[in-house]
Amino acid sequence: MAKALRVLIAGAGIGGLTAALALLQKGIDVEVFERAPELKEAGAGLHCSPNGVRVLQTLGLNDALERVAVKAVDRDIRLWDTGQSWRLPNHGASSEERYGAPYLFLHRGDLHAMLVSAIRAQRPEILHVNARCVDFAQDGSGVTLDVEGHGSVRGDVLIGADGVKSIVRGKLFGDDNPKFTGRLAWRGLVPIERLPEPMRAPITTNWIGPNGSVTTYPVRKGELMNFVTLVNRDDWQAESWTDQGTIDECLHDMRGWHDDVHEIIRNIDVPYKWGLFLRDPLTSWTSGRISLLGDACHPMLPYLGQGANMAIEDGMVLARSLDAFDDVEVALTHYERARGERASTIVLKSREQGDRVNRSELGDSASAARYIEAQWSGGNIAQRYDWIFDYDATSVEI
Ligand code: FAD
Repeated sequence: MAKALRVLIAGAGIGGLTAALALLQKGIDVEVFERAPELKEAGAGLHCSPNGVRVLQTLGLNDALERVAVKAVDRDIRLWDTGQSWRLPNHGASSEERYGAPYLFLHRGDLHAMLVSAIRAQRPEILHVNARCVDFAQDGSGVTLDVEGHGSVRGDVLIGADGVKSIVRGKLFGDDNPKFTGRLAWRGLVPIERLPEPMRAPITTNWIGPNGSVTTYPVRKGELMNFVTLVNRDDWQAESWTDQGTIDECLHDMRGWHDDVHEIIRNIDVPYKWGLFLRDPLTSWTSGRISLLGDACHPMLPYLGQGANMAIEDGMVLARSLDAFDDVEVALTHYERARGERASTIVLKSREQGDRVNRSELGDSASAARYIEAQWSGGNIAQRYDWIFDYDATSVEI
């Protein structure tokens, strides 16, 4: 029987939509408020590792994933200047046998669109756009959310899924004191036909160098090549998913890098830049009937490709907790307890991975070769990733 519970979600990003879909499938009433004027494609590529894919499959999105995702089974580690390369099996190569779910590369817009359409197929009226959440309060019987253009909305629970600059987090817990890393990310997509034939291969390439790293992988069934570079540069400190830069500026940041890197940059449609900031993990992210998920509570550096996966896992565990416990405050406590340690560990491990790929040894090809062979051996890779990919948010204890 459906539960008499009304959940309000601030933010229709990857985490908010996953939570909404999981709640609907448990028969729990939910309303999602998104500040953007429409739910349209935004962003570039992202990694959906087995721990995230498992959740999406449970939510019935397997066919939708198959239509757009790419499984890149090989990966090349390449040296920034000479282009010397080491061919390794990618995570995707044995993911299904090893973890029971594939490792996929996706356009964020495609993932977002499949979540929106799965929700619209059930309850189109629960997704509200032009709906910026500005304030909230809670009392003994529920929460009140103030939404620009929609007035005050009443529910039993409020979930802040409003991203890295969450107003829900800010109002509950104050300033999160982000610290600039001195690094900038460039992101962009290249229509595959613009690249020379040898560069169209459906593989992941990780370029590593002494002052940055570049990752490329195909998305949207190989129609687009995703490009992201994380580079040391301290004069750009805007943390934004939508700030555009220029091709020339990106080329300048990557001066000295191999011609293949420049070839990709020259063909990017729109280069976006994003300052990378560190935040310490929160010790708690729940207060009474209000909690957080995804980047709102555990934003992380992108080096392990886990930002979207953690938000997806949160959405599933949140829905299971609200379904399992009658008292919403108890449910949110169980949700946070189930998620806190894992999310905090991933935040810290993502920082470590950033340090692993930004090394002075990589400036010299002999020491770089030794370093790469030591760091990217099979045993090291398994140790770094097995515990991430094995996790099953659909059955983990809550
Ligand atoms: P997000 O996916 O960031 O979603 C947060 C949502 O909350 C957004 O839709 C935002 O508009 C909304 N919101 C914020 N404040 C309010 C408010 N006050 N009221 C209502 N709604 C609000 N990650 C990548 O790895 N690669 C990319 O290319 C990429 N591009 C992105 C482009 C955009 C436009 C955005 C918003 C995010 C992008 N991300 C990208 C981030 C990635 O989606 C997240 O890191 C990850 O998926 C965690 O998801 P989340 O739901 O916690 O946050």
